[in-house]
Amino acid sequence: MKKIAVVGTGYVGLATGVCLSEIGHDVTCVDVDEQKVQRMKEGILPIYEPGLEELMKKNMEDGRLRFTTSHKEAFAEAEVIYIAVGTPQKEDGSADLRFVEQAAKDIAENVERDHVIIVTKSTVPVGTNHKVKQWIEANLKKKVEVDVVSNPEFLREGSAIYDTFHGDRIVIGAENEQAAAVIEEINRPFGIPIFKTDIRSAEMIKYASNAFLATKISFINEIANICEKVGADVEDVAYGMGLDSRIGPQFLRAGIGYGGSCFPKDTKALVQIAGNVDHQFELLEAVIHVNNRQQVKLVEKARKRFGSLQGKKVAMLGLAFKPNTDDIREAASIVIAEELVKEGASVVAYDPIATENAKRVIGDKIDYACSIEDALRDADIAMIVTEWEQIKTLPLDTFEKLMKTPIVFDGRNCYAIEEVVKHDIEYHSIGRASVL
Ligand code: NAD
Repeated sequence: MKKIAVVGTGYVGLATGVCLSEIGHDVTCVDVDEQKVQRMKEGILPIYEPGLEELMKKNMEDGRLRFTTSHKEAFAEAEVIYIAVGTPQKEDGSADLRFVEQAAKDIAENVERDHVIIVTKSTVPVGTNHKVKQWIEANLKKKVEVDVVSNPEFLREGSAIYDTFHGDRIVIGAENEQAAAVIEEINRPFGIPIFKTDIRSAEMIKYASNAFLATKISFINEIANICEKVGADVEDVAYGMGLDSRIGPQFLRAGIGYGGSCFPKDTKALVQIAGNVDHQFELLEAVIHVNNRQQVKLVEKARKRFGSLQGKKVAMLGLAFKPNTDDIREAASIVIAEELVKEGASVVAYDPIATENAKRVIGDKIDYACSIEDALRDADIAMIVTEWEQIKTLPLDTFEKLMKTPIVFDGRNCYAIEEVVKHDIEYHSIGRASVL
């Protein structure tokens, strides 16, 4: 059992803190957001993440998990400190490290124990862990030894707990073998294969993994765009490709592209990382370009179908960047809503969980419905943006019954064409023939 502090209680920090306490460690999570900390102290999860609240409460009750806004309190006895603060993108696409730098300074000012190990969970450009060590050493209040270990996070929002206990690998990048061994020991109860490497390679593994997955998505989306023109069905094409074990079926779902808090910023950051060493990462630049184009595909299709969208009522089904999360960072819904409003359409959106977060970004440019049915009532067009279970299993006759004209643009290929043809619906999806 180790005494651990986690800096930052967002999707990654909170899941990390809770899961580390679940396997027996003594964990104190610190966040600068007082409201968030207050809610967690009351046993309320400040984000939407299935199963996490129950696990958080259980470990709080068992006395292994606590929350504070005081770095001093969090670090007083900590043997290991995890940094899990945000690394958003700057205007030029590079990673903004100001929260990591601040966290390093907070550590330097408050760390008490000697030989404390700093573990960077945040996704950071190659070389950042070395900077973290420098930032800490330059600001230390008490003369102690610190080691840094890169331990990038691979969990997915919406299945954070499952991923922490069943992930494919844990990557540990370190220069000091003893520090690496301590982090390996901490993680052993998760029962996941551990890969140890140097710090720079660990930092790179995270970016390379996300860039590769993004590449798979943009690749299948380009295949989908061609399928539409040559009369092939991308669902069958992806299935047939995925049967080849060298390719695999995952991340070959054609749609309106990737979004969220990781892929968009991490792909752009990697282009910057490459550029900084005079390498133009042309392949990844194309992946990003394809994704930007794909996000507005439904609007493009609707514009082509109607000529003008002026005065059309559009029901937008789904706001979150993917199902099972309330995260709308870089979600396609934001771009689609903006495009539709620009075209003069009126938009009514529905999402089971992400509406409040969406309101903060999209504001009152669009209306928000409390149910799928309310969004669809009297609509001219429906656009399926997020494949929430309740959206993708919506009986097709609901579109027929409630809409003024049942014209559906499905950005996530939720319905089988064989089913759609049985209904009186006009249906356009991605990489498949339209049903007219
Ligand atoms: P987030 O924005 O949800 O949370 C960050 C938290 O850190 C916030 O609550 C903020 O108040 C807190 N914070 C900032 N500075 C602080 C400080 N000095 N002291 C204490 N608290 C501080 O971020 P996130 O989505 O959890 O992502 C964190 C990191 O993990 C990022 O680098 C991200 O790229 C990476 N990552 C995210 C995911 C994901 O699915 N969200 C997956 C893998 C990796």
